[in-house]
Amino acid sequence: MTSLPPPRRSLGQVFLNSERVINRIVSSLDLSLEDTVIEIGPGRGALTNNLIGACGRLVLVEKDDVLAAFHKERFTDDPSVEVIHSDATVWNCCEVLKDGQKAKVVGNLPYNVGGQILFNLMQHQGCLTKLVLMFQREVAQRLVAQPGDRNFGAVSALIQTRADVRMLFEVSPTKFKPVPKVWSAVVEVVPKVLSPEMAAMVNDPDFSKIAHGLFAQPRKTCLNSLADGLKTKKAQCQAWLINAGIDPQTRPANVDIPAITALYRLIKADLGHRDGQPL
Ligand code: SAM
Repeated sequence: MTSLPPPRRSLGQVFLNSERVINRIVSSLDLSLEDTVIEIGPGRGALTNNLIGACGRLVLVEKDDVLAAFHKERFTDDPSVEVIHSDATVWNCCEVLKDGQKAKVVGNLPYNVGGQILFNLMQHQGCLTKLVLMFQREVAQRLVAQPGDRNFGAVSALIQTRADVRMLFEVSPTKFKPVPKVWSAVVEVVPKVLSPEMAAMVNDPDFSKIAHGLFAQPRKTCLNSLADGLKTKKAQCQAWLINAGIDPQTRPANVDIPAITALYRLIKADLGHRDGQPL
């Protein structure tokens, strides 16, 4: 067996050491032997050990060379487990899902790239039925925040247009080794079935730019934030906001998702009339 090196901070390696937390995460997936499960970042196998036997097929995606080799060796004789040595911020999950097969996803994600991994997976959300993922607590709070909450921002709007998102539970730093400085939280993400029009919008990089533009200066008014975020004249932004039904003087956190969608459509239509100048 490959001997395991000390945890690598650069890869966010804090390993779960609480059987209770592990059981709660795995049972949140509602697994059956029909299920294919993708585990992001199996690490030393804390979650993996409870996934084996609970699903029909398990795909492990690990960036760390040594840990990927460790799992490859460990599961060499088990055809139900596949180990992918890859970076989940860019890895395409459709690669392992053929003929319309769908999967559930689980992972105790590295803190620094948790959001990136989630949004990369969601690029292929049609292949995924449910994700149960652990993030740094602040990231989880932003994902589930509702309009009017102080945590509501671009990330909340971008994920909630794609999926139903729910906070499951928080996890104390004492449940990991080494002990991190921050709390964690587990979030359930259930991808929505998107109309072709909605799919085109959520996959358009301009939708992300507009959402991030609106929330560029969250303590300022929508008008100042959008003008600053999109580097566009205030008069133009004022017209877009009013036409989208958004009070230009309100704070971005008060704007709901249908209004952000309306803003996107207006800006795109307007830029289309001007030969699609880049945002
Ligand atoms: N699942 C294990 C557990 O709960 O004990 C390990 C969790 S640890 C927080 C994060 C894991 O993700 C590590 O194994 C790390 O090497 C791996 N990892 C870090 N960045 C990654 C990336 N971009 N793609 C895939 N795996 C990554």
